[in-house]
Amino acid sequence: MRKRRNSGSVVVLTFFAVLIGAAVYLYNSAMFEREAPKIDIKHGAYWNLRSGLHLRLEDGSGIKSYKVVLQTAKGERELASSSYTTPSKKVEIEIKPPRGVVGAKEKQVKLIVQAQDGSKWNFFNGNTATKEFVFTIDRRRPKVNVLANSYKIERGGSALVVFKATDENIDQIYIKTSFGKVFHPTPFYKEGYFISLLAWPTNKRNFRAEVIATDLAGNKVKAYIPLYLKNRNYKVSNIKVSDRFLLGKVADLASEFDETADIQDPIKRFKAVNEDIRAKNEALIHKITSKVPDEMIDDFRINRMYPLKNGKVVASFGDHRYFYYKGKLISESYHMGLDLASKAMAEIRPQNGGEVVYADFNGLYGNMPIIHHGLGLYTLYGHCSSLAVSQGDEVASKQMIARTGKTGYALGDHLHFGVLVQGVEIRPQEWMDKKWIQLNITKVIQLAKKMIDKSE
Ligand SMILES: [Zn+2]
Repeated sequence: MRKRRNSGSVVVLTFFAVLIGAAVYLYNSAMFEREAPKIDIKHGAYWNLRSGLHLRLEDGSGIKSYKVVLQTAKGERELASSSYTTPSKKVEIEIKPPRGVVGAKEKQVKLIVQAQDGSKWNFFNGNTATKEFVFTIDRRRPKVNVLANSYKIERGGSALVVFKATDENIDQIYIKTSFGKVFHPTPFYKEGYFISLLAWPTNKRNFRAEVIATDLAGNKVKAYIPLYLKNRNYKVSNIKVSDRFLLGKVADLASEFDETADIQDPIKRFKAVNEDIRAKNEALIHKITSKVPDEMIDDFRINRMYPLKNGKVVASFGDHRYFYYKGKLISESYHMGLDLASKAMAEIRPQNGGEVVYADFNGLYGNMPIIHHGLGLYTLYGHCSSLAVSQGDEVASKQMIARTGKTGYALGDHLHFGVLVQGVEIRPQEWMDKKWIQLNITKVIQLAKKMIDKSE
């Protein structure tokens, strides 16, 4: 008897243990998960009713069904719904109301999203979630008006534009070009007005720029900047490279950089210096000179650039250089500045003040200060023998900033003078020409201010 009773309770105990185990298993299994679906719409508080809203539903056991209802002053209307025999872990749909559903005078709409998952929880009904999204309707596109701009732009040169861009819920304002570069405008003179310098890189065949303004509701507008395009061809130079040069200057230079110090082959070494080290040095220059301040400016005045007294041009800007060794092409590069030379260790005194944004050694460019003159316009001074300024300094017009030299990739003492607009190298000669500045910068600003004052 004792034995029997014992085996009986073992059966009962085992039965309960299995039952509890099964319950725990089911409770923890994905089939019976208890989490409601996640509902998300990545969009701000404004909507133009034209651009689609991206709705995302997610759930561990999968979405079984969903419904999207639009609530307006006129009532409710179903915009989308679906149910799945095989629940899907992620459902993504675009929500767009049919035309005319929302009255012209309505200022707000509500979206009610309901979703049910495929869980067996809740007596096989699954978990449901409901989420409401309220949108303020903004159907009006931003307004963009180009007020004034330089008459023309040359390949490798620059231009100026002043425009008006307004919207109650403005999001982004930028200038898009045909070659992918985006220029960032600066708020100018009065609320709603902007100014920007533009640049046409020497290596791009064509130039086209338009102002783009977007608002928080998804409205977008474009305005073409009407610039007359003038092509300019840049010099092509074929340079013979001598053994003396490869084993002298290039070997010395290569020994200064970790990347090239161990290369023994003179030609490979030259190629690495002329291409890899140059690319690294230029990437730093482009990064530093791409910045444009956001603060509103009242004016932009610039003097004719003339950094080196009695400086004679010894190499031109934009020169495409091909290097040959014993008749064979071994490397190429572009010369993105103007080389000026006077006497050795001559004083460099720029005609325009500004902020020193860099003052250090930069590979092929040697000791190199860079000055920001505002509006994303930068000047660069390469190969200096000594620097008289430090990063962060504010320099005045005609202040001595450095002395010419031959540090970096330079054979004789000279100044490599570079001008950049938002990270793009441009022809320094334009900014060294008083007439060009008057016509393309000063007059454009004067005209724009007159128009702004008139319209207020
Ligand atoms: Zn140079």
